[in-house]
Amino acid sequence: MSQIVIAKFGGTSVANSAAMNNSADVVLSNPDVKVVVLSASAGVTNLLVALAEGCNPDVRQEKIEQIRQIQYQILNTLPDSQVVRDEIDRLLENITTLSEAASLATSLALTDELVSHGELMSTLLFVELLRSRKVNAEWFDVRSVMKTSDRFGKAEPEVQTLSSLCQQHLQPRLADTLVITQGFIGSESKGRTTTLGRGGSDYTAALLGEALNAKRVDIWTDVPGIYTTDPRVVPNAKRIDEIGFEEAAEMATFGAKILHPATLIPAVRRSIPVFVGSSKEPTAGGTLVCNKTSQPPLFRALALRRKQTLLTLHSLNMLHARGFLAEIFNILASHNISVDLITTSEVSIALTLDTAGSSTNGSSLLTSALLTELSALCRVEVEEDLALVALIGNELAKARGVGKEVFGVLEPFNIRMISYGASSHNLCLLVPGDDAEHVVKTLHHNLFE
Ligand code: ADP
Ligand code: ASP
Ligand code: MG
Repeated sequence: MSQIVIAKFGGTSVANSAAMNNSADVVLSNPDVKVVVLSASAGVTNLLVALAEGCNPDVRQEKIEQIRQIQYQILNTLPDSQVVRDEIDRLLENITTLSEAASLATSLALTDELVSHGELMSTLLFVELLRSRKVNAEWFDVRSVMKTSDRFGKAEPEVQTLSSLCQQHLQPRLADTLVITQGFIGSESKGRTTTLGRGGSDYTAALLGEALNAKRVDIWTDVPGIYTTDPRVVPNAKRIDEIGFEEAAEMATFGAKILHPATLIPAVRRSIPVFVGSSKEPTAGGTLVCNKTSQPPLFRALALRRKQTLLTLHSLNMLHARGFLAEIFNILASHNISVDLITTSEVSIALTLDTAGSSTNGSSLLTSALLTELSALCRVEVEEDLALVALIGNELAKARGVGKEVFGVLEPFNIRMISYGASSHNLCLLVPGDDAEHVVKTLHHNLFE
């Protein structure tokens, strides 16, 4: 293992000049930080996604102007910024050309190309800011090492290729420069830009950590650590000082936005601890995600994932039949869909579609082609606007009284589906979207406060 630390800063940590300066302080306070991974400045990716969906000329102008203002606010605080100003202007021109093209015809590849400009701009500005503070910082285009599949919007990284390209092109630079690079983006075999899905910069940081054999990956965000639930939903939520990989991975998968769901996969492969803290309050401490934690509690955290769709499939042919589930799963697989929760009865199956790690282009999983194929086999019912509440814990399946503790307090709510027993780390409930926050607050109050 090397002594390298990878530090990743999310959108709010590079939102404006003050935030970028705080982030620079964090980087410079630890000489082991050799690679810095940045998101786009807060708000920029959303604006770029909207442009990629195509808009009329007035709206387009307005959105491009908003992006320009966010980046210029930072640019204008930098001394000697003419070279970067030219670069930012060139990228803004690109954005204009690409969004005009998107208004004529959108495509997934075009979306990724357009959206990548957010990270390209934030990293250019951050390098200049560090240089103005006399730091030997270098801008690095992550697309030269982050090789991915061509699944635009949610591309899969090629881990082996990434590792050898990093050893060749990135490692040698680390001896005397601080490398600043982009999260979230990559490139496929023909060199076209791809993205890893919304929130993907966390994943980039962990992938680079794995490729460079880092001793730690630091995720700097706008909250000082991982809490027992989203502190925006429950202000009483408590920070978790140390948490195991499996529990944290369950939290991320089930919607705790604090980490992209795939972030811990590379970290687990190499046992690289991941630290989560706030770039605004770096001395406030944070959460360490690692291999072993002392005395993991029965109930650890609550996660919430909105916009869930429930499919209920009914067929009398299922009665005493073999192979029905296999047929259903084949259809889902051919549409690149993985199932999240599932319950079955004699003549019906209820399942939710896995929406963890949403794609950059926000494409819906439930296409009419999928529904047509399923309807040829069985009667299909679709319920939308549900929410998944996941209780994360340890040895849940072995403990006594979990059912009473959880369901006893949920009396006022309609619970649409329950999944419990497959993993000893979670108990999942599907509830109406409008009740979701109330359910989380109620459970948090009773199990954690
Ligand atoms: P970044 O832009 O830095 O990647 P995100 O907005 O993606 O930041 O993630 C940070 C946010 O995650 C927090 O502001 C918080 O509202 C949310 N969040 C959700 N669940 C949790 C949790 N269990 N602990 C802490 N934050 C959480
Ligand atoms: N900028 C990208 C997004 O907003 C990636 C990230 O922030 O991690 O989704
Ligand atoms: Mg994020």
